Amino acid sequence: MRECFELRETDAGGRIGDLTVPRADVTVETPALLPVINPNLDTISPRRLAEEFGAEILITNSYIIYGTDDVRERALEDGLHDLLDFPGAIMTDSGSFQLSEYGEIDVTTEEILEFQHAIGSDIGTPVDIPTPPDVSREQAERELDTTQERLEIAEDVDTGEMLVNAPVQGSTYPDLRERAGREADATDLDVFPVGAVVPLMNDYRYDDMVDVVAGAKRGLGADAPVHLFGAGHPMMFALAVAMGCDLFDSAAYALYARDDRYLTVRGTRHLDDLEYLPCSCPVCLEHSPDDLRALPDREREEELAAHNLHATFAEIRRIKEAIRAGNLLELVEQRARAHPAMLDGYRALLDHAAQLERTDPVSKGSFFYTSHESARRPEVLRHHQRLDRLAVPDSLLLTEGRSADGSGFDDSWRVEPPFGPFPRALSKSYPLTAEVPDRTDRSALAAAADGVARLVDANPESEFALAHRGWPADVLDRVPDGVALIDLADDRA
Ligand SMILES: [Zn+2]
Repeated sequence: MRECFELRETDAGGRIGDLTVPRADVTVETPALLPVINPNLDTISPRRLAEEFGAEILITNSYIIYGTDDVRERALEDGLHDLLDFPGAIMTDSGSFQLSEYGEIDVTTEEILEFQHAIGSDIGTPVDIPTPPDVSREQAERELDTTQERLEIAEDVDTGEMLVNAPVQGSTYPDLRERAGREADATDLDVFPVGAVVPLMNDYRYDDMVDVVAGAKRGLGADAPVHLFGAGHPMMFALAVAMGCDLFDSAAYALYARDDRYLTVRGTRHLDDLEYLPCSCPVCLEHSPDDLRALPDREREEELAAHNLHATFAEIRRIKEAIRAGNLLELVEQRARAHPAMLDGYRALLDHAAQLERTDPVSKGSFFYTSHESARRPEVLRHHQRLDRLAVPDSLLLTEGRSADGSGFDDSWRVEPPFGPFPRALSKSYPLTAEVPDRTDRSALAAAADGVARLVDANPESEFALAHRGWPADVLDRVPDGVALIDLADDRA
């Protein structure tokens, strides 16, 4: 068990947890956002991040501090917390990003970790190799070996109470991400950033991002705090949290503001294109788009950065509340509608339903069927798995009809799309209390038919009849041949 991280609530792969940061004497509630601070130029001061936005943790780059003489001296003399004037926890990056951008840096893992410790960082980072997407497998494996060596070096550096990141690389090879996760988990390091995913997000490859995270998560233990490194757009937080990410860092709030870009959970807008501000943060209540456009550059950038942060932190709170209420996947479904690439991300997430099912609570409020993707949610999969274990009499009527009348059969079970059949005694238990639209879709019917098939296949000795409300022929094709079919829709005629 990792002492620094405790899980309190889960929903799908998402979790609310407490990350204890001993050196800062702070406990950070996750999912958490770490605003990125450039020590040489801050758009919004760290003090304001803490007091106005409630930031409990931020991230800054120790390599920039290391390479800037006067800042380095002040950091060594006064410590990072005084230098930045921030009361919460501070994570530092190592220069790996600069390594990936410029090809080389002039510092080793020992040197940069010792420097991070010396300036008072609370969570330090070794110099890993951020392997970009789509490289050859040979390159990905070779660089992963180097990253693993660096993690082993990091284990031996005396870092006192400072927590240390163990980045998980492996490019776009899910099995390498899984191996990297397993190897990182086996070290005594503390926090696990999934690295080099920024190019995927810049290209809107949310499905590939999901596969990469899913691979890393398979290797990491359930108690490992996972950081999606470089992910700062609120549009994709719900998706990433549902996959099991706990920490995000945002440079986007400031970088986007510099180009007059306005963040929303449905995507990014340019200030020039806005006639209304679709947000109720203090910035948007006090200004019209014309007011903002009329501001001098520096002030406009600061106001936009403040809005971007408000929108970002609000989404983190919304996600936490969704986990607590047990409707995180309904939130992901909403976000998936913002952009076709997000929908790809959600569909990829559902490819990993079996992985999510392991942490998904057995009981929640109410399952809302809100899109045909809902038919692939972990709860449906779990119900189908449960069908293998239910005791079935010699003859059984499965019916969508309201009546429990199973005359001529030993028993009668209900059938509800998307779950399929279940004994009436389970009617009041999650997820079978689901709210499903009356105008049901083919995916829900197909999933119900698959449930029927699973039950029938698990009980070859029993006799089954299925009374359905006009299921189309291609759905009925999924039901095994031996099942007697009764169309309830015919009765209404
Ligand atoms: Zn706003």
